[in-house]
Amino acid sequence: MSKEALEPVEGEVKNFIYQEIDKDLAEGKNGKKILTRFPPEPNGYLHIGHAKSICLNFGIAEYYNAACNLRFDDTNPVKEEIEYIESIEEDVRWLGFNWQGDVKYASDYFDQLYEWAIKLIKKGKAYVCDLTPEEIAAQKGTPTEPGKDSPYRNRSVAENLDLFERMKNGEFKEGEKILRAKIDMASPNMHMRDPIMYRIIHKPHHRTGDKWCIYPMYDYTHGQSDFIEEITHSICTLEFEVHRPLYNWFLDQILEGEPVPPVRPRQIEFARLNLNYTVMSKRKLLELVQKGIVSGWDDPRMPTISGLRRRGFTPESIRLFAEKVGVARRDNVIDVALLEYCIREDLNKRAMRVNAVLDPIKLIITNYPEDQVEMMKTTNNPEDETMGIREVPFCREVFIERDDFMEEPPKKFFRLGPGLEVRLKSAYIIKCDGFKKDEQGNVTEVYCTYDPETKSGMPQSERKVKGTLHWVSARHCIDGEVRLYDRLFMDEEPDGHKDVDFKEFLNPDSLKVLSHCKFEPGLADVKPLDKFQFQRLGYFCVDSDSAPGKPVFNKTVGLKDSWSKITSK
Ligand code: ATP
Ligand code: MG
Repeated sequence: MSKEALEPVEGEVKNFIYQEIDKDLAEGKNGKKILTRFPPEPNGYLHIGHAKSICLNFGIAEYYNAACNLRFDDTNPVKEEIEYIESIEEDVRWLGFNWQGDVKYASDYFDQLYEWAIKLIKKGKAYVCDLTPEEIAAQKGTPTEPGKDSPYRNRSVAENLDLFERMKNGEFKEGEKILRAKIDMASPNMHMRDPIMYRIIHKPHHRTGDKWCIYPMYDYTHGQSDFIEEITHSICTLEFEVHRPLYNWFLDQILEGEPVPPVRPRQIEFARLNLNYTVMSKRKLLELVQKGIVSGWDDPRMPTISGLRRRGFTPESIRLFAEKVGVARRDNVIDVALLEYCIREDLNKRAMRVNAVLDPIKLIITNYPEDQVEMMKTTNNPEDETMGIREVPFCREVFIERDDFMEEPPKKFFRLGPGLEVRLKSAYIIKCDGFKKDEQGNVTEVYCTYDPETKSGMPQSERKVKGTLHWVSARHCIDGEVRLYDRLFMDEEPDGHKDVDFKEFLNPDSLKVLSHCKFEPGLADVKPLDKFQFQRLGYFCVDSDSAPGKPVFNKTVGLKDSWSKITSK
């Protein structure tokens, strides 16, 4: 992705949804009230696509000084769990949003929905059907061919009322009967071909217990739930555009003969967010979790909000991402590089710069006094002076990165090698004059001499050398682990291949654990989710597996340009 594409857009115009809301306000619709909602089904953890929808719905509420509801669309007791409800609430709050009043549940409306179903039956607009799902599918027709009427379509109102009540009372087995809307089997819109309203499920529900054994379908529930809550703008993804006539039909039937309601929800669709190199379907994410391919919903490689949080993303970075992605009517795939750009932007401003050596090799400064320890002053964040300075211990033996030393360095290797000079950041300029190897030929120690005049404040402190290395004191550092991540999939669109399972594209090297890392002593008492920039290496976040004195870090993202940032000092 080009840099320009990532730059903030100055004076960005409000997206088309805001324009539509402005129009409704200008026309005085809904008593000039605005109320949005975020309606997840509690059948998985939220992902970055949901974050876009959350930012949009709660963002509109913030902008218009209005409110947004959080409603769980809990119409399917088979797939839904309390764990998901709790994680969803946590994620929405973590993103920085508050819903209006109590959390809402579609299941709170089961009584009302049932009453409305009776009303539809009485009007001759719904019927109990005995066809099997296979038979229904076979009679549905195609978009260009009309479907066939069910042989049960003309049951009398009395018979339908009786059968529906007996469905509710548990007299039938699952799949034996369903309630269908009676609309039009020849409609060019397949969703209008007598869609299912209720099915029998003999399973208790996490909120209604075993009160019900018939459950309303999502399509029969969603629009009415919005109506009950007086949602003014029901914002949803494009695939629901074709459901809109059905939602309207249900409301028309229900409202017939009733006084005009204060609010009638208006549905507006936008394109869902797609991100490359990952999958976003909850079913597929669940499969990764259940098969143990990832460590859980919050595995830092997952596109879930909890995974991104554990990886080191901040709410601000995700909100910035949602803003930059924008809202469109056309499907598109967003480059994950944009998400990485957003977290870098945020952490660059906030993260304290510290020293960590991930693949350590010992460096001995042979002319430095054996027992001496100096406290070296170093800037916490050059981007933010208010973050101050701190002192890090320096002594005769330090660790540097193994790949910062080469036995036979090529030209332009501005790091360490025999005869070469570098600065140890915030300390001295050193010159390499030897090294030791083990029997396998691996370098085990590097020997240098230092120039005492090159410390900050000394006569030679401004002397320029090409390279500056990070380091930690061998005597004072602490040990710990770093987990490096690569994309979970090697393909840009792992679930976009016909006949090839998305798991075929898993990246076998998406996780690399480095367990012998060395950190400056100040990192001994970090807490999970603390975030740092490891000098020259990238941004890192403390993992929940950390223990006192034994930190575990996740690499959030690399530095954009690991070298340009390293000038001297
Ligand atoms: P399912 O596959 O279970 O239907 P879903 O991703 O549609 O999953 P919901 O819980 O129904 O999940 O989604 C809640 C809300 O989030 C809906 O309003 C939906 O439109 C929105 N949403 C879901 N995925 C995305 C996405 N990728 N981009 C933008 N919005 C999304
Ligand atoms: Mg959905």
